[in-house]
Amino acid sequence: MTATNAAAATVAPRLAGDPELLPAVPEDAWRRAEAAIAGARRLLLVCHINPDGDALGSMLGCALGLRSLGYQVQAAFPGPQDLPDVFTQTLRGIDLLVPPEQTYPDPDVLLTFDAASVERVGEFAGRMAGADHVVVLDHHASNPGFGTINLVDPGAAATAMVVDELLRRMGVPLDTAIAECLYVALTTDTGSFKYQATTPEVHVFAARLLRAGVDQYEISRRLFDARPFGAVQIFGEALRRIQLEPAAADGAGFVWTYATLDDLGRYGQPAYVLESLIDLVRSAEEADVACVCKQLAPTEWAVSMRSRGAVNVAAVATSLGGGGHRLAAGFTGYGDLASVVDSIRSALSDHPSGS
Ligand code: MN
Repeated sequence: MTATNAAAATVAPRLAGDPELLPAVPEDAWRRAEAAIAGARRLLLVCHINPDGDALGSMLGCALGLRSLGYQVQAAFPGPQDLPDVFTQTLRGIDLLVPPEQTYPDPDVLLTFDAASVERVGEFAGRMAGADHVVVLDHHASNPGFGTINLVDPGAAATAMVVDELLRRMGVPLDTAIAECLYVALTTDTGSFKYQATTPEVHVFAARLLRAGVDQYEISRRLFDARPFGAVQIFGEALRRIQLEPAAADGAGFVWTYATLDDLGRYGQPAYVLESLIDLVRSAEEADVACVCKQLAPTEWAVSMRSRGAVNVAAVATSLGGGGHRLAAGFTGYGDLASVVDSIRSALSDHPSGS
């Protein structure tokens, strides 16, 4: 954990009695965030482009909680506005989502969720200058702290845990609708409680969410065990052209594949069905690093990267203009597929395993 724990030592921990689980956010930042929100009327909540379960779930859970306190709350995200059905069907806060062009031009407070950098909130970056405060809620270690108040806890498994702490401090009861949003966030970012970030604190948090009425079986089934047949067919094609490069990444190994706009068109699928392809690719145990290149435009690729632990893919992705966590990161690559994969290979040799 970080040096900021010294400043946080006076905070009542989320899990009473365990000093290792103190939040990494300084007490002063929590107080300033509460005061900023308390002095506001109109709140604009935004999460990152192409929102995942943590981005949307933490934002909408927070939106529901703040609305229950009487604030005027809008939630929004930049970029294409299509969302996976699983989110529109599961997240009850979805009715608080507003198209970007209908959001407050001058909110009192702008809050960002799960956005590791200002670029990740796209067109909403321009809204920051007009807000009295920008409160950043996040858990990416690479977050530079682009808000006026930064609630960034790299020790949190999901941004949802930061939201939970803020709502707790503001006296918002954890009802079923909020808990469902936060559960979607938590189970997404822990890979269904499998990833390294799954601490005892995560399970205690999950237990509180289940006690609040979350139907974990139904949410998990929809999130992880259901996809259209066309998506399964694309996965089959992508796995048929998968490449293993044992010598790459300083001998740690690199496995990768790709999916094109043509693949999506052929099977009539939206781009978001590709999100979980990385979980199949990274199961190739001969490689420490796994990548999926997803075509966004003829010469634009969204690249997801995972590591088994030897290579810090956050450093690799950051060197390529993206960011993320040590074991899960991403960036946008420009050019043809071969040149994007080449850029990954050379970044992997610049960031050797173990560094
Ligand atoms: Mn997250």
